[in-house]
Amino acid sequence: MKKNLETICVQGGWKPKNGEPRVLPIYQSTTFKYSSTEEMADLFDLKAEGYFYTRLANPTNDAVAAKINELEGGVGCVLTSSGQAANFYAIFNICQAGDHFITSNTIYGGTFNLFGVTLKKLGIECTFVDPDWSDEEIEKAFQPNTKCFFGETISNPGGNVFDIERFAKMAHKHGVPLIVDNTFATPINCRPFEWGCDIVTHSTTKYMDGHATQVGGAVIDSGNFDWEAYADKFPGLTTPDESYHGLTYTKAFGKKAYITKIVSQLMRDLGSIPGPQNCFLLNLGLETLHLRMPRHCENAQKVAEWLNDNPKVAWVNYCGLPGNKYYDLAQKYLPNGSCGVIAFGLKGTREDAVRFMDALDFVAIVTHVADARTCVLHPASHTHRQLSDEQLREAGVAPDLIRLSVGIENVNDIIADLEQAMQKI
Ligand SMILES: *Cc1c(COP(=O)(O)O)cnc(C)c1O
Repeated sequence: MKKNLETICVQGGWKPKNGEPRVLPIYQSTTFKYSSTEEMADLFDLKAEGYFYTRLANPTNDAVAAKINELEGGVGCVLTSSGQAANFYAIFNICQAGDHFITSNTIYGGTFNLFGVTLKKLGIECTFVDPDWSDEEIEKAFQPNTKCFFGETISNPGGNVFDIERFAKMAHKHGVPLIVDNTFATPINCRPFEWGCDIVTHSTTKYMDGHATQVGGAVIDSGNFDWEAYADKFPGLTTPDESYHGLTYTKAFGKKAYITKIVSQLMRDLGSIPGPQNCFLLNLGLETLHLRMPRHCENAQKVAEWLNDNPKVAWVNYCGLPGNKYYDLAQKYLPNGSCGVIAFGLKGTREDAVRFMDALDFVAIVTHVADARTCVLHPASHTHRQLSDEQLREAGVAPDLIRLSVGIENVNDIIADLEQAMQKI
C-alpha cells in the first residue's frame, strides 16, 4: 500500500514480526553470528543478504535508512555519520582523481570547503557557478570529464531556492546526474526526485533529527540515472570492481547500482557509519517531522514578516516573503512552506549585530540550525569563519548576515525576545 508522508514518518522502516518489539530496537552490536562458514562467505560475496558487521549494515540503521528512502521516494538509502560524509560519498562514488564536477556556489560553508579544498587535494576539481547566471553561462562550466552537478534545495545560510527542474534538465543534457542536498526543505516540503533530481543527500543532524541529539547524514538514490547510457563516464559503476571479485555494479544491481557501490565499497573502505544509538534517536525525530515542519514554517513566516516591517532591520531574506527574489521558485518547489531559517541584516555596525545577539534571552547563540529550539548564528564569525570576504560573497553570505533558525515555540515569545534584544542596540 502506498502511504502518505505523515504515515511513513510514523510507521516507515521498522516492521516488527510476531512477538518482536513494537519500537525500533537498538542493535548495539558490531557483529552478527552465523552457524556455518559458507553462510558467512555468501554474505561477503554479496550472494546472500544478511548482517555480519555493522560497518556494512546494521538492522537499526537499515530500518531508519528505509524510512528516509521511502520519504524521498528512492530505491535505496545509506546513512552516514554526518552530513559532510554524505556529501563526500555522494560525489566520491562517481568522481575520482582527474574528474570534475559543477556545484552551485550558494551552499553550506562546510560543503564549500569540502568541494573547493579537500576534494581538490584528491585530484577532483569543481567549478562553482552562480545559479542566477543564464543557462548559457553555466553550461560553459561543463567539461568532457564533468561527472555531476550539485546544489542545495534551500541554501544554508543564504536561503536561496535551487531551480531543481532547470538544473536536472541541464545536467541530463550533458549526460551527468543532478545531486541535491535537501537538508533544509526535508522530504515533507520538497521531494527533489519528482523534479528530475537523481541523488539526494541530507544532513540528518538538522530538521530530520530536530532535537539536536545526533550528527548524521544520508544519501538516497532515485534509481533513475542511466549509468550504462554513459558507461565511459562512470567506469566505477559500469566496469568490474576488482575489490569485489570483478562484479559490475550496474549489471549485478541494476537501478540500485549507485547506492550499492556506496555501501559495499565506500563504507567498507572509508567507514563513517552512524552508531545504532544515533539512528534510534534520528528515528524518534523522524516520527514527528511532519508535525514540526509546518510549525517551523508558520512561525518563520510570521517572524520574517515582523522583521521585514522593523525599522532596525536592513534586509530580510526568506523565500516565503512576497517580493523575495526566490518567492516564485519557492511557490513552485515549496508550496507548503520552505523551512524555519531566515537570513537578515541589521542596520548599523557589525558590533550592533553582536550586541543584539548577546542580548537575546532564550533565543540562543549556537552552532546549529534547524532545531526545535530557536537559535541564531553569525556565519561570518562562526561557521564561515575560514572564508575570505570574497568567498563569503560568492557563497551568498553577507558579512552582516544573521542566520535565525526559528523553532517551534510560541511565535509571540520568539518575537518578544527579538524585540527586547533589538531595543538594546
Ligand atoms: C549542516 C549541513 C551539512 C553538514 O552536515 P553535518 O551533519 O553537520 O556534517 C551539509 N549540508 C547542509 C545544507 C547543512 O545544513
